Amino acid sequence: MSSIEPAIQTPVAVDLCIDAEWIIPIEPAGSVLRDHTLVVSHGRIADLLPTTAANERYQPVERRDLGGHVLLPGLVNLHTHAAMSLLRGFADDLPLERWLQEKIWPAEARYGTAEFVSMGSLLACLEMISGGVTCFNDMYFFPEQTIEAAAATGIRAAIGIIVIDFPTVYAQNTAEYFEKGAALYAKHSSAPLLSFCLAPHAPYSVSDEGFRQVVSLATQHDLPIHVHLHETRREIEESLALHGGTPLNRLDHLGAISDRTIAVHGVYFTDEEMSLLAERQTSVAHCPVSNLKLASGIANIPAISSREINWGLGTDGAASNNRLDIWQELRQAALLAKVTANNAGSLNAHEVLRAATLSGAKALKLDHEIGSLSIGKSADLCAVKLSQWINQPCFDPASHLVYVTGREDVTDVWIAGKCRKNAGQIVDLSRFELLPQLELWHTRLISL
Ligand SMILES: [Zn+2]
Repeated sequence: MSSIEPAIQTPVAVDLCIDAEWIIPIEPAGSVLRDHTLVVSHGRIADLLPTTAANERYQPVERRDLGGHVLLPGLVNLHTHAAMSLLRGFADDLPLERWLQEKIWPAEARYGTAEFVSMGSLLACLEMISGGVTCFNDMYFFPEQTIEAAAATGIRAAIGIIVIDFPTVYAQNTAEYFEKGAALYAKHSSAPLLSFCLAPHAPYSVSDEGFRQVVSLATQHDLPIHVHLHETRREIEESLALHGGTPLNRLDHLGAISDRTIAVHGVYFTDEEMSLLAERQTSVAHCPVSNLKLASGIANIPAISSREINWGLGTDGAASNNRLDIWQELRQAALLAKVTANNAGSLNAHEVLRAATLSGAKALKLDHEIGSLSIGKSADLCAVKLSQWINQPCFDPASHLVYVTGREDVTDVWIAGKCRKNAGQIVDLSRFELLPQLELWHTRLISL
């Protein structure tokens, strides 16, 4: 400082200062900041500093005092079928193949319309925001309606350009899926809270030619490829009989396994296959609750982690979960990793929180924008209240987030600096008039 500068500087005008008792920024790994302030300006993180220093340096339009709270990046739900929220509890206690063939596909054939997707996606977006999820990666029919629901609620979305070989109400053949996807991408690719993935449903539902086209478009537009992979043993056995190789090997031969691929589930990977995923820098979307509920199995996350394969957490659709609740996923992931590795030290709380935030963002190629509280990133945030008696005593907020608290403890959510949940209430929830519409859908679906 030169001697001619004034000793007291004029405070800098900013939009928002959030004073929190604890802040877990995810980067640097393992850090927990006490009595710090996150400064937001123009929707972005402008600073992160001790509250005493922030009080001197910044003049915010709005100040939030989150004493007794922990502030962290918004959670990333790396695998959803948002519209399936309307099928929550519609078909329980069935194995995957029967669940799909006897219940889900017939319901979708009858009611899987644009109107269904609008309502189901809206419900899902609100459920996710309420639980601290600020970004989701979706795969479903009528993605235009999911885009509208995301825009109406203000949540960030990675939208799947879905490709599947069988006809649906949405598209009659593979060519039509690609045509509709291309039109959607052309219309929305520059929207601020949207990104896109190619979303071939699964190796058993998309042909070699379909995957070749997916790879070509993903390369041309620099997009991730979001695909179900190695969810069940049966999927692998059928591929060996039909194609003479595992689904992973077949997709690798088609060029579909690369650093842009998000392999969803990954319950059954051999050591050799995990080495291939590591070599290709492929990401995995771990969906432990869906895998448990459909009795698909348990992904070997300790082995995946030890190879430094990037992995994030997904809920899958509400028809196989039945909550779009990343807190449940991260707790299950932590517990299952310990029992899988036979090691209570496997996957500590900070590693799980990183999977639920930054690693999901990395899989979506959005880690330059979201996933940690680094200066310059978008202000996608959630605050969790730890001060209630039921959460006391608290020795370590990271441990509490993984093993104690739940989505009911999420009080505040911001996406790109806009408040979407405030002191426990979703902002302007009443404008969606949810209940009459949900009653109508219940009446329709129960008659099936
Ligand atoms: Zn899925």
